[in-house]
Amino acid sequence: MRKRGDVYRRLARHLDDLPAGFPPTKSGVELRILRTLFNEDEAKLALRLSVLPESPESVARRAGLSASEAARKLEAMARKGLIYRLEDEKSGLRYSANQFVIGIWEFQVNRLRPELIRDMEEYLPTLITDSPWKKTPQLRTVPVMESLPVRHEILAHENAEDMLRGQDRFLAAPCICRRERTMMGQGCDKPEEACLIMGRAVDYYDRNGMGRVISREEALAMIRRAGEAELVLQPSNAKKIANICMCCGCCGVLRTIKSHPRPAEFVSSPFRATLRQDACSDCGTCLERCPMGALTRRNGQGIELDSVRCIGCGLCVLTCPTRSLTLVRKPEAEQRDVPPTLRHTYVTMARRRGGLKFIKLVRSLFRSALRV
Ligand code: SF4
Ligand code: SF4
Ligand code: SF4
Repeated sequence: MRKRGDVYRRLARHLDDLPAGFPPTKSGVELRILRTLFNEDEAKLALRLSVLPESPESVARRAGLSASEAARKLEAMARKGLIYRLEDEKSGLRYSANQFVIGIWEFQVNRLRPELIRDMEEYLPTLITDSPWKKTPQLRTVPVMESLPVRHEILAHENAEDMLRGQDRFLAAPCICRRERTMMGQGCDKPEEACLIMGRAVDYYDRNGMGRVISREEALAMIRRAGEAELVLQPSNAKKIANICMCCGCCGVLRTIKSHPRPAEFVSSPFRATLRQDACSDCGTCLERCPMGALTRRNGQGIELDSVRCIGCGLCVLTCPTRSLTLVRKPEAEQRDVPPTLRHTYVTMARRRGGLKFIKLVRSLFRSALRV
């Protein structure tokens, strides 16, 4: 007979085989998180899903369930954010595996508990550092609108407003990082509604009660407020985006990369700040604005910018009274390629994690396609 923990270990490996990974720890905190989120039945059913969306009938055959039982269980799991649901008129409801981050974790925004938050805090450094994030981040950083350098040099996928063109549905969702920090008594004064969701993902969020559908004008207003509210714009790492996060110091990703000596290596950002020390009045405003601690005051010698800490968010540029800070494009060799779609991003992530992970991803897609 299998030990109770076995299904969770298998689920952990299953999640680790997905492009974004779910790296193991010595402490086993990741298994504790899975036990809190999934009951054993749910864990077993999650093991039956791949990244390819399937109908309940198709999953039922593999899971030894009736179609109606599979439909009921899959929908209940989707409502808990444990698996993903796609719906369209042609194919009806279909379900697929969720990656842990960005995915299962963010979808727990309405199910947070202090123990779960503490476990996630413990897991976060491993999750960001040992996962494929450094090689292929899931989010990019783009400058807040007013800090953009000369407008005609900016590509459409580098301009948050341009990224909204071609999108027809928008939803404002609460930021899980901010909610976590608030629940732990470490919250900030930033607006909680800080995740802008677009396109087909709107259905999932809306059906799960994770936000409110908004108009294009409201979506644009959210983006335009980011600079003033000291929020870093982080869209999906693709030219066709699915979301824009507006992150502050509560952000688990930003907090983790800030603790590294070279945060710039963890982000995909085409720009970085430059400082004209001769023009700087030493007012100190930028020291407060920079989310990465890239700007510091040297002993009696004015302000210094450490470019390996700069993620090109533009927040310092916006409020520098002497225009000593500007954003410049990085040399081409230092700019990362931006994949055309998120599907390309995930395939790239799997490929960069090494042959075995890539083969497992392809095999899982193939198996699902054959419905075995
Ligand atoms: S990534 Fe940023 S916006 Fe998204 S949940 Fe975390 S802090 Fe909030
Ligand atoms: S120096 Fe800091 S605030 Fe300025 S662009 Fe870089 S990371 Fe952003
Ligand atoms: S905000 Fe501008 S003027 Fe003030 S210290 Fe920073 S660089 Fe200097």
